[in-house]
Amino acid sequence: MKLGELGEFGLIDAIRARIGEMPGVHRGIGDDAAELELPAGHRLLTSTDLLLEAVHFDFAWISAGELGRKAVAVNLSDIAAMGGTPRFLYVGLACPADTEMAQLDAFVDGVLAEAADHGVALVGGDTCRSPGPWIIAVTIEGSVPAGQAIGRGGARIGDLVLVSGTLGDSALALTLWQQGAIPHPSLAARHNRPTARVTLGRALAEAGLPTAMIDLSDGVASDLGHILQASGVGAEVRSADLPLSLAFREQLERHPQWFGLALAGGEDYELLCTVPPAHLDAALALGALSGVPLTVIGSVTDRASGLRIRGSDGVAKPLLIKGYEHFGHTAGEAGR
Ligand code: ADP
Ligand code: MG
Repeated sequence: MKLGELGEFGLIDAIRARIGEMPGVHRGIGDDAAELELPAGHRLLTSTDLLLEAVHFDFAWISAGELGRKAVAVNLSDIAAMGGTPRFLYVGLACPADTEMAQLDAFVDGVLAEAADHGVALVGGDTCRSPGPWIIAVTIEGSVPAGQAIGRGGARIGDLVLVSGTLGDSALALTLWQQGAIPHPSLAARHNRPTARVTLGRALAEAGLPTAMIDLSDGVASDLGHILQASGVGAEVRSADLPLSLAFREQLERHPQWFGLALAGGEDYELLCTVPPAHLDAALALGALSGVPLTVIGSVTDRASGLRIRGSDGVAKPLLIKGYEHFGHTAGEAGR
């Protein structure tokens, strides 16, 4: 069956039928607005992300189910980067009338599975026909105890720069697909099934360890750059200390030029934070506890030094923040 035969309200009813009771949800899908409640003493966190077919994703590389999960995960990641708990989700969806229901069902399955994994309730959205590409607009609401949210503006000279997980895997998968090659499954999974670091972000914020935090959607160069700008500081990153996966290292042996993807490749959805040296051990312990290790990649310097990278030769050079074209990406596919 096609979406055009089921219709807008048929689809909404089908989604609604799959949703049970969730904490904080007095009224979810099916009314003019959702009626929700946050725990006492919490503040609301909200974020939204737009995904366009042929700009942000291509069904040649990602399945509808993976896309559903990813559309949620990239939003979870924004709440994680604030140190919050994700709670409520809204999905705006436009797709062509001739979309197969099987594909749409797989997308909705992905959305609901990713939401369920994080205890997040789908409480609303909007649905309409697209004359062409799929358009997905996901909004997330989370909460954080008052005073615990971690912004981008708190980094101080002498803080250490930490990242979770490994860098560049997602962008490397995309680069390989664009060249007609087949990436190692572990790289493909990092692109198509990113995992938002929600537990780690919340744990770090609850312990009050980071001075600033951001999620890596556009690469270290760009996203650390946002922290530096908001905080009025500089930073030095050591290239030898960037955490790289085994699959990434194997590709580097043949294609050393792809090292840049670890610095400027998008869509890792890892956390990057700055931490005073006195908090380092506690932060590393939380990384280990969450199952996603944190790695020190550099330190915060004065603003005049800008963002610099110290190579394996020991020489520090300015890290020029470049767009994706520089590494052979189309700006749209990886830039967000
Ligand atoms: P309205 O006309 O007020 O926009 P709709 O008929 O579009 O209401 O939506 C009816 C209900 O279904 C609302 O609660 C809305 O939030 C929900 N809804 C619509 N589309 C989606 C979707 N794609 N995912 C989740 N909920 C949806
Ligand atoms: Mg509507």
